[in-house]
Amino acid sequence: MPLDVAAIRQEFPIFERTTHGKRLVFLDSAASSQKPRAVIGAMMRVYTHSYANVHRGLYALAEEATELYEDARAKIARFINAPDPAEVVNVRNATEGINLVAYSWGETNIHAGDRIVLTEMEHHANLVPWQQLALRKGADLAYIPVTETGHLDLAALPPLLEDGRTKIVACSVMSNVLGTTPPVTQIAEMAHAAGALVMMDGAQAVPHRPMDVQALGADFMAFSGHKMCGPGVGILWGRGELLEAMPPFLYGGDMIRTVKRDYAKWNDVPYKFEAGTPPIAEVIGLGAAVDFLSAIGMDAIHTHEQDIVTYTLARLAELPWLHVLGPGPYERGGVVSFWVDGIHPHDIASVLDAEGVCVRAGHHCAQPLHERFGIAASARASFYIYNDKDDVDALVDALHQVVRILGR
Ligand code: PMP
Repeated sequence: MPLDVAAIRQEFPIFERTTHGKRLVFLDSAASSQKPRAVIGAMMRVYTHSYANVHRGLYALAEEATELYEDARAKIARFINAPDPAEVVNVRNATEGINLVAYSWGETNIHAGDRIVLTEMEHHANLVPWQQLALRKGADLAYIPVTETGHLDLAALPPLLEDGRTKIVACSVMSNVLGTTPPVTQIAEMAHAAGALVMMDGAQAVPHRPMDVQALGADFMAFSGHKMCGPGVGILWGRGELLEAMPPFLYGGDMIRTVKRDYAKWNDVPYKFEAGTPPIAEVIGLGAAVDFLSAIGMDAIHTHEQDIVTYTLARLAELPWLHVLGPGPYERGGVVSFWVDGIHPHDIASVLDAEGVCVRAGHHCAQPLHERFGIAASARASFYIYNDKDDVDALVDALHQVVRILGR
């Protein structure tokens, strides 16, 4: 069943407004998505009816807030097919989730002479924490190269696994620039056969396609609630036995079982990793987002975006002066980055903005990837459940306007 985009848009109050007097054509969901009434309402209900700090209070209201918070964790666990809600750690954003692993797991498991393997298409969030860990520990950093067509050159991986020095492979489930969806299950199989773990960055994938951390063979996966119709909160999922063995990342209240003057003992997973008051209403809001997306259907969302990307690539091919980064349709998710010779992507974004079309411009937190393609920056259109082909047509019309105004 195709998505009823008109009905979905009705669920998002932001589409009642205009921008520069034009219809709002929002093509920047890869940075952060818009929020439906269901999520805004769930958070309003918490604050107006059910708010108290969680896990501590011995009164009914605190118990109610705790139940809502833990129910949301269970929903999020089901959404990614995590075997146990205790493996779902609520954090601030995907970046914090990856930093948690790089510090907690990394400090105890990475030593001088070990190797950490990344890919050239990583977002800085799945690159800098590993780079800095390698620098702290005297470990090596290696990158799986990206080919001219925007795929991973997987032939580079076996030689990096042969000597047993690689301890972890960190790779994105979907690139936020190329839209590429690398064969992460194959990468996980190869890494595991060599005794290495896999940190998957699901920030661009979890909002857009059915996700099963077990079937993918992930050891850790981080993603962001704010990119999937939810509020500003992130999730780290990790295999139970790994989380059990890891030391805390942050110390303080709620993450302890006992504190004496000279030592402390830690609470169970996941609380061991949730020091201090968590983002209570945000986690409950993310639970509502998961319900909202599940009701639409993740398969239907994926198919819808494939459809839009196919149409976008065909329409952009009409513009001989425009270069698209990354692979063809059906090999990528709902992200299309491009550049135009002689026009800075920031200028492209400014002209598009005046036409009501919101796109991202810059390096999209992927500087090494842009360097790989010999460019400093690109413009990026990204799609979600509230976008349709009219939005793509608006983008293409506005791109013609870019060339009319700025020439080439
Ligand atoms: N990884 C990827 C692939 C992303 O696109 C992003 C967000 N731009 C992140 C990680 C970081 O997400 P957050 O800003 O929520 O930490």
